[in-house]
Amino acid sequence: MSENKKLLVVIDSGHTGNTYNAGAVKGYYESKAVYDLSLYEKTALEKRGIDVILTRERNQDPGLYERGQMAVKKGNGYANVLFESNHTDAFNGKACGVTVVRSAHLPGSEKLAEKMIDAIVKVMKPSTGITYNRGVVTKTQSNGTDWYGVIRGAVSGAASQGQAKNGPVRYDYIVEHGFHDNPKECLFLSKQENLKAIAEAKAAAIAEYFGIGNKNQSANQSGHGSQNSLNNNSHQANQNTSTDSTTLNKKTAYLVRVSVDDLNIRQAPTIYSKAVGFTGKGVFTITEEATGIVNAAGEKSRWGKLKSGQGWICLDYAEKVA
Ligand SMILES: [Zn+2]
Repeated sequence: MSENKKLLVVIDSGHTGNTYNAGAVKGYYESKAVYDLSLYEKTALEKRGIDVILTRERNQDPGLYERGQMAVKKGNGYANVLFESNHTDAFNGKACGVTVVRSAHLPGSEKLAEKMIDAIVKVMKPSTGITYNRGVVTKTQSNGTDWYGVIRGAVSGAASQGQAKNGPVRYDYIVEHGFHDNPKECLFLSKQENLKAIAEAKAAAIAEYFGIGNKNQSANQSGHGSQNSLNNNSHQANQNTSTDSTTLNKKTAYLVRVSVDDLNIRQAPTIYSKAVGFTGKGVFTITEEATGIVNAAGEKSRWGKLKSGQGWICLDYAEKVA
């Protein structure tokens, strides 16, 4: 096997665009930070002779399953394929630490995940004082398939490829690099040199695990099939709560113009409510107003209920039509 066919790393930067999922520190957006981090990581891995592909450009937004599937499609001919979806987490503003979600179907991927968490914590802890290893977790649907679409997509080839005699061994992860709604971790993550340091540490851990650039080490495939369930604290989980929006809705009726393609319609007036679709561009009738959370920092703004009955939109992205 040639050295450069030993490992393909497929890096997925979570979400899309420059300004998605604001953090506790002004100017921080998860989508931008994880994209920057992913670019640094790509450079750091390539420096070590490891092949890397990214699932999106800064403003592209491929579907979650599609992102995962890139690892399957591009992985042919490699001994190992590592797919990681890079994120920062959000919960209640106090939670902190680093989590990796691995595919429940790849228990052999546990050790590398632990190693990556340790590497990230080691970079963050001295500055934040609070970052710790939250663990490697799995989360599945009731039928046993992985909960997260991005992992389902990535692992879809594992049965035929990962476990096949000559196919790549699979490592499919979501990596949550601390919490962006935690002020201390967000402050750390909002600095480019810190993202670069995390990227370097991860690349070094990955190269070491696969024995790349160090002939004395080889990949360790023995795994521990723990079946922890992930606490339902990720912003990626579907949530239907409306407890963080005001109950005193103001009845009204007026027209607004939406000028973006990707404005979410949500079941309740808060970003923590389930998204049921996009408005698309156009003019819409708002029949009710409410105040609810509009970003991960917990800031509130106005939401409007669509006359169609589909749900609520954040009015920060809509312009009142005179
Ligand atoms: Zn995320």
